[in-house]
Amino acid sequence: MTSPVLLMLNRPSHEAEAHEPAAAPFTSVDPSAAQVTVRDLGVTRGDGIFESISVSGGRAQALEPHLARFAVSARMLQLPAPDLDVWREAILAAIDEHDDVPESYIKTVLTRGVEGDGHGRPTGWVYMEPSADFTQARAEGIRVITLSRGYATTVERELAWLLQGAKTLSYAVNKAAGREAAARGADDVIFVSTDGYLLEGPTANVILRFGNRLVTPPTDTGILAGTTQADIFAHAEELGMDTAYELVTPDDLRAADAAWLVSSVRHAAPVRSVDGDDRPIDAEFTKAINTHLLTRRN
Ligand code: PLP
Repeated sequence: MTSPVLLMLNRPSHEAEAHEPAAAPFTSVDPSAAQVTVRDLGVTRGDGIFESISVSGGRAQALEPHLARFAVSARMLQLPAPDLDVWREAILAAIDEHDDVPESYIKTVLTRGVEGDGHGRPTGWVYMEPSADFTQARAEGIRVITLSRGYATTVERELAWLLQGAKTLSYAVNKAAGREAAARGADDVIFVSTDGYLLEGPTANVILRFGNRLVTPPTDTGILAGTTQADIFAHAEELGMDTAYELVTPDDLRAADAAWLVSSVRHAAPVRSVDGDDRPIDAEFTKAINTHLLTRRN
């Protein structure tokens, strides 16, 4: 059996003190032993950020975009900036240490640290384990429901403190949306803004296909700027397709020739029903996208 790998960062940010000034930048530790204290603000308040990065063929995919987004999220939460050179090195070390399995993922976590410790030292770690099997979701598709997110598409520009568009550890709402989907006999969710536009899923971006054109919601609408969506757009452009960032509605979702929820790790999952109504999936193009995502070299 493949064992997970866990590296604790000694100095996750050069803007804060190291945990142990003389120690190495990161240390491989026992992932089944306790490493984080119960007073860590990541645990008690969800006050921190993360990234989930696919690893395939021994390579962390879209590594630089993930690191860049990690830094953006830190800035939005006013956390000490992650030292990206150290994080990159730790990610590569985790891949070296982990068994070479076809699909695995890495989670990087940076929290505000231990409440009241007087040091303002963030906590950081890199965790790696094999991915779950997403064969069925990729091949047969997923059933989604649309749910209101309770915000307008202006949220990120007007209500910065709500942190929409940052990849924070506060995913209780996203998990609740997933349970709501399950209670309604569905697999996943597409959030809709109060002004009537598609946003994203709880852990994925939305892409629609109209003929030769792929469309996704603009990234300043309070959604995460997706690394998978960006790579799919780049690949589609190489294939001669058009791509666009545009506001789209639930009616557009129903009218689209194909639709996907796309994210690291699960990759492209075609949407096969919306609010209980079946819709076509594009099995061939989905396969082509997922083959590209699994074998990309960036
Ligand atoms: N939107 C949300 C809310 C997410 O949590 C994620 C991924 O976890 C995404 C979109 C997709 O981002 P990426 O493709 O970079 O994994």
